Amino acid sequence: MSALFPDYRPSWETEDHRLLREHARSFFGKEMTPNQEKWAAQKHVDRETWLRTGEAGLICLDVPEEYGGQGGDAGMEYLVTEELVYSGDTAFGMGVGSTITPHYVANYATEEQKREWLPKICSGEWISAIAMTEPGAGSDLQGVRTTAKRDGDDYIINGSKTFISNGGSADFVVVVAKTDLDAGHKGMALFAVEASTPGFERGRVLEKMGRHGADTAELFFNDMRVPAANILGGEEGQGFYQLMNQLPRERLAIAVDALAMAEAAVVETIEYTKERQAFGKPILDFQNTKFELAHCKTQVMATRTYVDYCIEQELAGKLDAVTASMVKMQATDMLDDVVDRCLQLFGGYGYMMEYPIAQKFAGARVMRIYGGTNEIMKEVIGRAL
Ligand SMILES: Cc1cc2nc3c(=O)[nH]c(=O)nc-3n(C[C@H](O)[C@H](O)[C@H](O)COP(=O)(O)OP(=O)(O)OC[C@H]3O[C@@H](n4cnc5c(N)ncnc54)[C@H](O)[C@@H]3O)c2cc1C
Repeated sequence: MSALFPDYRPSWETEDHRLLREHARSFFGKEMTPNQEKWAAQKHVDRETWLRTGEAGLICLDVPEEYGGQGGDAGMEYLVTEELVYSGDTAFGMGVGSTITPHYVANYATEEQKREWLPKICSGEWISAIAMTEPGAGSDLQGVRTTAKRDGDDYIINGSKTFISNGGSADFVVVVAKTDLDAGHKGMALFAVEASTPGFERGRVLEKMGRHGADTAELFFNDMRVPAANILGGEEGQGFYQLMNQLPRERLAIAVDALAMAEAAVVETIEYTKERQAFGKPILDFQNTKFELAHCKTQVMATRTYVDYCIEQELAGKLDAVTASMVKMQATDMLDDVVDRCLQLFGGYGYMMEYPIAQKFAGARVMRIYGGTNEIMKEVIGRAL
């Protein structure tokens, strides 16, 4: 648990969760904290880090053991996400490579495929990614123009993707494509693609405003021949429904990430304002500073209880699209508000990238955009009113 609420225990947290939290905290403190600058400079995380994280049993926490996972529950995945954020990391693509992509395989691949692919993903040998967004289609997923044409026992895939997390280093990508461009969402399918497939090409690793160590890249598919058996779910027309089923999990993971980052921002701002002096006293002694931090701490706690409610729902298999959209929107809006107020209390130092608060400010901004923009979250929530 964060230093901000040392006595708070989520209702879903068991002794196993607590032990895992300690293990993750110690591992990430050694592996992630010291490497941030190096990874930002090279724009990707070292492959050895993936392998060591796999060895430490911190990838695919809720994938069954028979497929190489840790056989735990979703709460484990979320608390490891939190610990990663507390370590100061803004680079490691675990959200996509552990919380999200492997579950498309676990839920929709055949038994044989699960046994072949998942152990490599869970061990960190394979970095995985999910490629939905295209230059011409982001929010409007139905506008995807990547095509998959049946040719004997294969599909031939052509198209391009952008903003793909882990894209520059991924070994395995779940690709959203259209088997029928005229069939709307019913023409959509997901394909499991190994990056070694001829026709799989990578573009630039993109220059972002924050999270410089996270490799976010373009992908191109040129007459890429994929076995027909790699269509997830075994038949055409399932892709849209598979995405809709998995997106609540992704959106809750983003909310957890946002919450942990806000919490860490408040902790480091309290520490800083205790030390920094102006007009002969610590900055924290000014009423404005106390009011700002009182506001932030309250926002974080309110979000924490809501996130924990959603994790309970997820553990019970009951997290629905609307609830997940609400928590994603609320937590990421809250983060932007909190991190902006905290940065202000650092004065000019808050604007310097060497300060973690500046990295958080830049890293936070994308959370209102990816995983479905917060405007799309309002659409999802609004439609169900
Ligand atoms: C760092 C980063 C990592 C990412 N990782 C991945 C990844 O791993 N895989 C992947 O597939 N994608 C990824 N994305 C893409 C991300 O999910 C999209 O950027 C996002 O869904 C928005 O799509 P877009 O950029 O095309 O914006 P657009 O869809 O063009 O939206 C532009 C603006 O219009 C608004 N808008 C659009 N439609 C509506 C509407 N109906 N009502 C109201 N407002 C609307 C949006 O909210 C937004 O404000 C990533 C993006 C970033 C920046």
